[in-house]
Amino acid sequence: MQKINELLEPYAELEGAVRQLMAQLFSDACGMCTACCCRADICEEATSSAFLSLLLERQGVKAADMDDRYGWLDLHGCSLEYGRPPICYIYFCDQLLSRLPDDETRYASTMLGKLMNHVGHQALGGWHLVEIMDPADLEKVDVDGLFQRLEEAQAAFEVIEEFCQTGRLSRSARETLSAITSDED
Ligand code: SF4
Ligand code: SF4
Repeated sequence: MQKINELLEPYAELEGAVRQLMAQLFSDACGMCTACCCRADICEEATSSAFLSLLLERQGVKAADMDDRYGWLDLHGCSLEYGRPPICYIYFCDQLLSRLPDDETRYASTMLGKLMNHVGHQALGGWHLVEIMDPADLEKVDVDGLFQRLEEAQAAFEVIEEFCQTGRLSRSARETLSAITSDED
């Protein structure tokens, strides 16, 4: 458990950075949305997942704090600073994607949405880190692999952040992002 605990801080830091950048890029559209894609059954994953539960605990959030009907959603949006199920970052509705100015921006945005999912990919055999329900199984995960993926996700985040400032993706930036794409295999 010791080693997985060491992942909590850098994971939470990266998730915070991803969340902030996404809010910067999309809060106008999502904030005005009347068909919010958040769902209580997705919210519940944060309490049933052993790893996400550790992240909730770290920020002083208890499973009982979750509303039966609205999950973690309140008037200001999702109340979880980190420890959200990775799917929460992956989904972009067509309306949101169509508001982005070009294909390059759509590509960079969808890659941004995949970063948290990338970190936990294949943590224990074929299981994603957040799919592990039994805390005892966290002892068995491939922690070195998780740290490797965390580094790849951090590098990809820097590339995407730079794209947001310059509007350009260099060849080396695309190579950095390709480590994330391969997770779909
Ligand atoms: S992704 Fe689309 S459906 Fe979901 S909150 Fe944003 S605008 Fe609404
Ligand atoms: S973003 Fe937050 S409120 Fe929305 S589905 Fe995910 S955990 Fe629930």
